[in-house]
Amino acid sequence: MGGRITRRQWLTGAGATAGAAALASATIFADEPGKEPVPSRPVDRVVRTTCSPNCTGSCGQLAFVRDGRVVKIQQAADYPDPVYSPRGCMKGLSFHLHIHGPERLTKPLIRSGARGSGEFREASWEEALDHVAAELKRIGETYGYETIHVFGQVPGSGYVHKGANYRACAVLGMSHGTSFDYNGDLPMAMPITFGVQNAEHEAKDWANARFLLVVGANPLETRIPDVHFLFDAVANGARLVVVDPVFSSTAAKADRWVRLRPGTDAAFALGLAHVIWRERLHDEGFLRAYTDAPLLVDERTGRRVRESDLRVGGSAERFVVWDERSGGPMVVGTDRLGMPDGVEPALTGSYEVRLADGGRAQVRPGFDHVRVEIESWRPERAAEVCGTSAEVIESLGRAYAAAKPAAILMGGGANHWYHGDLIGRAYALLAVLTGNIGRSGGGFSVYVGQYKVRLPTQSWWYPDKRKPPIVSTIYWIEGRTETMHPAVPYPERGFKALFLTFSNFLLQSPNLNKVFQRLREMELVVAVDPQRTETTQWADVVLPATTWYEKTDLTATPLHPFLQLQQPAIEPEGEARSELEIWSELVRRIDPEQWRRYFQGEDEESAIRTMLAAGDYPGGPTEGITLEQLRQGPVRLRVPDPDIPFLEQIEARRPFPPASLPAPIEATQVFLPTRRIELYKEERRFLELGEQVVTHKDPHDDGVHDPVRYPLRLLSPHSKWRIHSTYSNNPWLEEIHGGRPRVLLHPADAQARGIREGDEIEVFNERGSLTAWAHVSEAAAIGTATLPEGWWSRYFLAGRGVNELTSSSINPIHEIWYVPNIWAPSTGWKDCRCEVRGHGSPGRDRPAAGPAGHAMSSRGRSPRSSRIPRSSARADHAATGHRHPDLARTRANGGGAS
Ligand code: SF4
Repeated sequence: MGGRITRRQWLTGAGATAGAAALASATIFADEPGKEPVPSRPVDRVVRTTCSPNCTGSCGQLAFVRDGRVVKIQQAADYPDPVYSPRGCMKGLSFHLHIHGPERLTKPLIRSGARGSGEFREASWEEALDHVAAELKRIGETYGYETIHVFGQVPGSGYVHKGANYRACAVLGMSHGTSFDYNGDLPMAMPITFGVQNAEHEAKDWANARFLLVVGANPLETRIPDVHFLFDAVANGARLVVVDPVFSSTAAKADRWVRLRPGTDAAFALGLAHVIWRERLHDEGFLRAYTDAPLLVDERTGRRVRESDLRVGGSAERFVVWDERSGGPMVVGTDRLGMPDGVEPALTGSYEVRLADGGRAQVRPGFDHVRVEIESWRPERAAEVCGTSAEVIESLGRAYAAAKPAAILMGGGANHWYHGDLIGRAYALLAVLTGNIGRSGGGFSVYVGQYKVRLPTQSWWYPDKRKPPIVSTIYWIEGRTETMHPAVPYPERGFKALFLTFSNFLLQSPNLNKVFQRLREMELVVAVDPQRTETTQWADVVLPATTWYEKTDLTATPLHPFLQLQQPAIEPEGEARSELEIWSELVRRIDPEQWRRYFQGEDEESAIRTMLAAGDYPGGPTEGITLEQLRQGPVRLRVPDPDIPFLEQIEARRPFPPASLPAPIEATQVFLPTRRIELYKEERRFLELGEQVVTHKDPHDDGVHDPVRYPLRLLSPHSKWRIHSTYSNNPWLEEIHGGRPRVLLHPADAQARGIREGDEIEVFNERGSLTAWAHVSEAAAIGTATLPEGWWSRYFLAGRGVNELTSSSINPIHEIWYVPNIWAPSTGWKDCRCEVRGHGSPGRDRPAAGPAGHAMSSRGRSPRSSRIPRSSARADHAATGHRHPDLARTRANGGGAS
């Protein structure tokens, strides 16, 4: 059949045609810039699967297959809740260029030259697996298996194959690394305040807000499938306020854009809190019922008063309030939120209580400590710190408190700081003060890498409850710290091997030069990846992996509530294998007995059935959901509609925190001894560092890099054109965005350094440097240099990329407890000072944009042989013109994927 069929026919008919012979056709776009598009031709089949890079959008896609190749990708648009249909973006729709692209890995490679030389020879799977297994065994038996660090990305989005890493580590005793905290996406304000890893509203609930405060996020560029919900809210009359140092695409669409000095959000939010408190716009009932605000704190110790302090034989797990009605202390339990009948607890003031030992102590409600901090942040003071005006703070404080429900959406721009926990706590304070928690359209949600695990994966990841040692990967760089929690299973003998899956680790880690020092200590580096990257170049063995169009997996994301399958649309390219297949073969070689127990006969389907079964109980997240149902299309997890965090706590008064999978509740309850939202923290380190209540602290790098010598803040936001480093080498996207990393500078900063638009510039600090091109625009904030992360190093004139400069410093607050990926060090990518100097006008050749540097590829191409195509060069020239960049991007978004 050669004729076109309509899009609607596809949406209604082809959405669930996995494996079916297709009576269909597809318009095929040119694979290479400049090549003529091929008109509609029949395809062999259409397969419904799920896109799964590290954006966690988890968008349903249709793969159009002809002659064993994916020739087109199209949004599936088959969600039972039609507001989610269709979802996708231009990156997902161009992924077939990677499946069949020139940098695809199709055979195992073993290093034949010096590490990093990019010299490899092809090997059979037998040889490669024998070699890797022998080396892992040698290292395991010599130093201990825990010295092998296994690191994979996005464990929350593909549960089977990322789970295979965990299962193998559990079985062999290897250390598993962490990605959520390592990526800086763990919003430490959440475990500190709410006792959970993260708790975001599903995206469609944005549309129910009356006021949207978007801070440090640019959803028009980085949440393309969901951003329409923001504008649905606006169309319904909501007010959209964007807080960002850069005039972003989203800022351009806001009712109000607030430019702050980077890293000063906590001062800004405390200024708003000041206005809300001063004008009595807060929700006292909410503070009393759901938070620790009324719980008394002993002035001598800074710790909360317990029943056991007042009464011999009293409980150390019951707390005390000052009852204004009776004029004395009253004990409250932790089994239910709210207050005992008739108790009216004080939120402020100072009181004296009699202690069990006969002594007396001066006490104040925890909120009184918060009050003192809030009252110190007069709008004038806050404005001076954060660089906006007191009038803006006054008016926004009133507007936020007046609108109900009001949602705060925080992104990486606010979270990716050493003190990102304080920033998050300050915004969370606004939502708590105004009673916006547990309300549809309200809340405080952090959208920075949505990796929250949504079903009990432990059943398959940790067989027979054998949990591997999990070591936050930042410790792989930093080693032991003085303040490291004793529960971190850091290996006695350090790390000796690095095993990477789907991770461009040697580009996307912070403080890259330190990372490369650590790399020298590794006796084995293995990279499992579908394509050649900067990281595979430095591996000893490269194992070609299947993409998500060539394997089965189970996916979910907190952005929408649907469980979905990845289903193979084609046979694997070349000899590519899945992580599960690879680990099964390695374990079989290393320990046949363990293999027989835990891997023999295991495949994707058995893994999925095991995980579904674990959540299939009354009220469980997968109650009644079967693999067969999932084969027909997405199935809604058994969660409230809309899926809003803390509903049970607010409506049924169940104590905080809800569970954060895959950790057992016992592991996370310790974060909140009061079982309430905690605005006051009593643990010793909070007290020592003066962070028992939220405050503002200057960025950490100010104490590392002299602000006079390094006057600019280096911001490295996510890019519209990449998912981190994935798609960096995508020819379609390269052609559109110009294929050249540009550093956004304000004209005043550029002029002061004699830099003009398009000049070659060096960006440097004491950790490293890079050379790229200047982009001078008033969209930049004075005192900042902005370079989106994820550019592969070959696109720079010099340097490995932005992470030569970023910091791997660990905040000791993040080490008070240790629950990997939930309370653990979260990387502060944006907390980075730098200076910039001009290298004059462009005159040099552009760097080659060819393969990633393997001297011998599985396809036999030479390294660095490709040049940027002419069309890309033209696009780059156009992109460096004088149109306002963000307005141009906004227009481009107008016809976006959703
Ligand atoms: S947002 Fe784009 S890249 Fe991410 S899952 Fe959806 S289609 Fe794929």
